[in-house]
Amino acid sequence: MITTTEKTPAETFGEYVFGDRAMKKYLTERTYLSLRKTIDEGEPIDPEICGEVAEAMKNWAISLGATHYTHWFQPLTGTTAGKHEAFLDFCGKDGAIMRLSGKSLVVGEPDASSFPTDGARATCAARGYTAWDPTSPAFVKEGTLFIPAVFVSYTGETLDKKAPLLKSITALNTQTKRILKLFGTTCKKVFTSVGPEQEYFLVDKEAYDKREDLRLTGRTLFGALSVKGQELEDHYFGVLRPRVAEFMKDLDETLWKYGILAKSKHNEVAPAQHELAPVFCDTNRSVDNNQLMMEIMKKVAEKHGMACLLHEKPFEGINGSGKHNNWSLSLDNGENLLDPGAHPESNARFMFILACVISAVDTYQGVLRACVASAGNDHRLGADEAPPAIVSVYLGDELGAIVDSIVLGKNYVPKKAAKGSIGVPESPIFPIDSTDRNRTSPFAFTGNKFEFRMLGSAASVADPNIVLNTIVADAFALAADKLEHSANPEKDIKAYTENLLKEHYRVIFNYNGYGPEWEQEAEHRGLLNAKTTADAVPELLKEENIDVFVRRGVYTKSEAVARANIQLDTYVKNIRIEARVVLDMFRKDVYPAACAYEEKLCSSLSAKKSLVALNCAKEEDLIKTLAQKQEAMLLACESLENALAALPEERLAAAKACAHVVCPAMNELRRVSDEAETLCSREDWKLPRYVDLLYGV
Ligand code: ADP
Ligand code: MG
Repeated sequence: MITTTEKTPAETFGEYVFGDRAMKKYLTERTYLSLRKTIDEGEPIDPEICGEVAEAMKNWAISLGATHYTHWFQPLTGTTAGKHEAFLDFCGKDGAIMRLSGKSLVVGEPDASSFPTDGARATCAARGYTAWDPTSPAFVKEGTLFIPAVFVSYTGETLDKKAPLLKSITALNTQTKRILKLFGTTCKKVFTSVGPEQEYFLVDKEAYDKREDLRLTGRTLFGALSVKGQELEDHYFGVLRPRVAEFMKDLDETLWKYGILAKSKHNEVAPAQHELAPVFCDTNRSVDNNQLMMEIMKKVAEKHGMACLLHEKPFEGINGSGKHNNWSLSLDNGENLLDPGAHPESNARFMFILACVISAVDTYQGVLRACVASAGNDHRLGADEAPPAIVSVYLGDELGAIVDSIVLGKNYVPKKAAKGSIGVPESPIFPIDSTDRNRTSPFAFTGNKFEFRMLGSAASVADPNIVLNTIVADAFALAADKLEHSANPEKDIKAYTENLLKEHYRVIFNYNGYGPEWEQEAEHRGLLNAKTTADAVPELLKEENIDVFVRRGVYTKSEAVARANIQLDTYVKNIRIEARVVLDMFRKDVYPAACAYEEKLCSSLSAKKSLVALNCAKEEDLIKTLAQKQEAMLLACESLENALAALPEERLAAAKACAHVVCPAMNELRRVSDEAETLCSREDWKLPRYVDLLYGV
C-alpha cells in the first residue's frame, strides 16, 4: 500500500484564508458567533468584538509568516490596491511587539488623491478611508495579511467598486424579501451568487518580454497572422501541453489554498488560449476571488516561464477572451429562486421573477452594455466570437415556448423529460436537458441561473454585478409597490407577470446572435446597438439610468456621473497609450526591420547586376513592393501622429475621436506593417512573431 504524508487538497483548502476554520480556532465562541451572524445574516458588526478579531487575525497571520497587514481595496482603476503596514510597534524602552488594534482592523487612511475620482477629490483634499468588509475573508499572501475593505472619501463618496457592490447586494436583499412575502415566504437574507468563467492566454515569457506592445498594453499591436490559426478547431478541449498542464496544476493548488474552488480547466478555441471556472459563491466573495485569481494567474505563469495574458484581444485573427458571469439568487436555506422546477409554466413565483429580470434587462440594456465597455472589449463584442454588442435575453426552447404562449397566445405543450442513448447496449442511458445551449447570447438562461456573457476577460466582475443587482432590485421594488396591497394577489401577480412579458418581449431572442440579420432585426425592435465604448458609456449619463442607482441607494448622482466619466477617461488613456506604443514600435522595430531587409535585397541585386546581365524582374518587383509598403507605412504613421495630436480636450469628443479616428489610423498602420512582415526575412524581423507567441509553449 502506498502511504503519503502529504496533505490532500481538501485538508489544505483555504489555509491562507481567515475563514471558518481559522475563526473557530482563534476566536472565543461568543465572538465567533457574533461575527458569523454578520457574515451570514447581514447583522451589523458589533464594535465590541473588533479588538478580539484583530488580535486573532494577527496571530493567525503571524503563524503563516506574515509581518504586515493591509486594507485591500478596489479603486476605480479596476484592479486592487493597498498600503502595507508592519505589525511591529515600539514597546517599552527599546523593545517591539507585533500589534493589530481593533481600530486598525476597522479603518485605514490611505491617500485618496492619486486614484481616479473624477474631481470628487482634489489633490489638496487627499483624505480617504478604507473600512473593513467583514463579509469577505482576510487572507495571507507574501507575508502580508490582506483585509478586504471598501474605500470612501473624507466626504463620504464611494471611490471603489466594493462599496457600491455591497449596497447593490443590500438593495436586492431588501427588495427580494418584499417579493418573497407576496408569495408567503420569509427569509433572513437573500444571496446572489456568481461563478465567473475566466478565459486567458499563455505565452512564452522570453517572447513576451521582447514585445513592447504586450508588456505595455497587454495585446499585440503588430503581427501578421500565423499561417495556422484556429481553423482546424483542434485546440478546444484538446490535450494540455506539458508546460500548460504543470501551470494549471500549480495554479489550482495555489487557488485552493486561498479558498478559491477552481473546478474546471481546459484549452479554449484559439491556440494558446485556456479557461478556468471556479465553483460559484456569494457575489462579494466571488468578485474578490476573481481579482485575486487574476493576480495569482499572472504570478504562477511567471514561475513557469510564461506570461498570462488577460487582455480581451491579445491577437488579431483568432478569438479573444471573455468572462462569463453566471448569476443566481437564492434564499439562506440554499433554495435557488431561479430554479424553474419540473413545471415552470405553473411555477408562478419563478415566472414572476423571470419576468422581472427580463424587464430589468430590457429597460436597462444601455447600462448593461455600458458596464462591460472597455477599449479591450470593443474588439470582441459583435465580432462573431463573443456576443454582439446588442443586449438580448435567451430563454431556450422550453421557457421560450412558455413565454410565447403567454405573449402570443400560442399553445404550450410541456415536453416530457427526455432520455438519451448512443444506441449501444453497453452504454448507459442519460437524462437530456430541456434546453440547448446558445453560445451567441449575451444574457442566457442556463437551467437555474443567468449567464451574462459580455464581460471582458480583464475586467473586474464588480461592475456587471452592481448593475444586475440594482436593476433587478428595482424591478422587484416596482412590482412590490404595485402588488403589496393587492386584494387578490394571486390574480394580480399573474396579470403583472403577463404584462411585463408582453411589454419587454422585444428583448427575448432565442436564435443565432452572430450575423447581420440579427443586427437588422434588433434595430427594427428598437434595441440599442452601441458598438464602441465611446458610444456605450454615454448611456450611463441618461437621467433614467442614473435614477435607478440613486433610487436603490447604490450611487448618488455625482457618484454615478463620476464613474461614467472615469470610464471614458480610462478608455481615452488606453487608446492613447496604444497609439503611442504603435508609433514607438513602428519607429524602433517595424520600420527598421523593413529597411534592413530592403537594403539586403538592394545590395544583392546591384551586386548581381554589376557582375552579369541577369533578368531579375521578380526580384525587382519584390523590392518595389516592399518599398511601396514602406511608403504606405510612413504615410499611415503620419496620419496616426496627426490623429493623436488632434485629440480634443473634452472627454466625450476625445473618446469618439479615439474610437472613430485614432483606432482606424492604428489599424491602417498595422495592416501595412503586417503585410511588410510577411515579405521580410526572419533574421531582419526581430519581433517575436505570432507563430512564436501562439505555439511557443
Ligand atoms: P459553461 O461552459 O457551460 O458555461 P461551466 O461549467 O464552464 O459551464 O461554468 C459554469 C459556471 O457557472 C461555473 O463557474 C459554476 O460554478 C457556475 N454556476 C453553476 N450554478 C450556478 C448558480 N446557481 N449560480 C451562479 N453560478 C453558478
Ligand atoms: Mg459559460
